[in-house]
Amino acid sequence: MDFKKITEVLVTAKAVQYVMIAVLLIGAFFLPRLAVKQETEAARQEAMAEVQQLKNSQQSGGNAQAAKGTIVLDPGHGGDDPGMIGESGINEKKLNLIYAKKLQTLLEAKGYRVVLTRETEEGLYDADAAHKKAQDMQRRVAIIAEEAPLITVSIHQNSYQDPAVSGPQVFYYEHSAEGQKLAKSIQDRMNSELSEARSRVEKSNSSYYILKRSQGTTVIVECGFLSNPEEEARLQEEAYQDRVCAAVCAGILQYLDEHSEAGRIDPSQAQNPRKILESSFAL
Ligand SMILES: [Zn+2]
Repeated sequence: MDFKKITEVLVTAKAVQYVMIAVLLIGAFFLPRLAVKQETEAARQEAMAEVQQLKNSQQSGGNAQAAKGTIVLDPGHGGDDPGMIGESGINEKKLNLIYAKKLQTLLEAKGYRVVLTRETEEGLYDADAAHKKAQDMQRRVAIIAEEAPLITVSIHQNSYQDPAVSGPQVFYYEHSAEGQKLAKSIQDRMNSELSEARSRVEKSNSSYYILKRSQGTTVIVECGFLSNPEEEARLQEEAYQDRVCAAVCAGILQYLDEHSEAGRIDPSQAQNPRKILESSFAL
């Protein structure tokens, strides 16, 4: 290798070195900016997703703006009043609240605003009230009057002296044509979707306080019998609770779809003032 050749190689090596340094400098300058840009884009997309989520939740309910109207769900009992108590020790007030909250989620997803008369295991009475049960029931009726909902669904668990009796049962106020339609719609869905051996028919009632005293169309859904050991166990299974609530939700939606707002005006129900003592608080 002559001197000239060596010089050429050295110059080339130097040139390669300069090019590499230049590439590194350019990279060091642009890469962090690119990363920042990507982070900013990710944050922007996240914020957009949050806004969209908020918009969706506003459209699908869960707040006062839900477009399709209000439904009141009334989980029966609470506080000192446990309702029926099953052999396993499970009490009705606890189950009623579980079912009401599940149903609330389903109805809100369908665009309804849902109001629960109670959201905890406490009752609606004052601790020092002389007649706690009466105050509790009066306050439930007052909530319904204030909300003026499309419909009200009171949720309970049934009980009977014969432990063989089982299955869902829906009640309506005997003078309410709309109540009967809603009760039938829910009862039919519960019969068909919970595969009950013996299908029940919606049942009229003239004494339950919540049916008599609440304004608008109100029904009571007795999900099943805590006095039947197998049903008591089933009523506590989440998968069965979901099936019950899906059936009740389907019945409600069917009723609301089939009956226009004008058709739901029901002056016959609970407009006549009656003495509280005539009504039965127990169910
Ligand atoms: Zn009850």
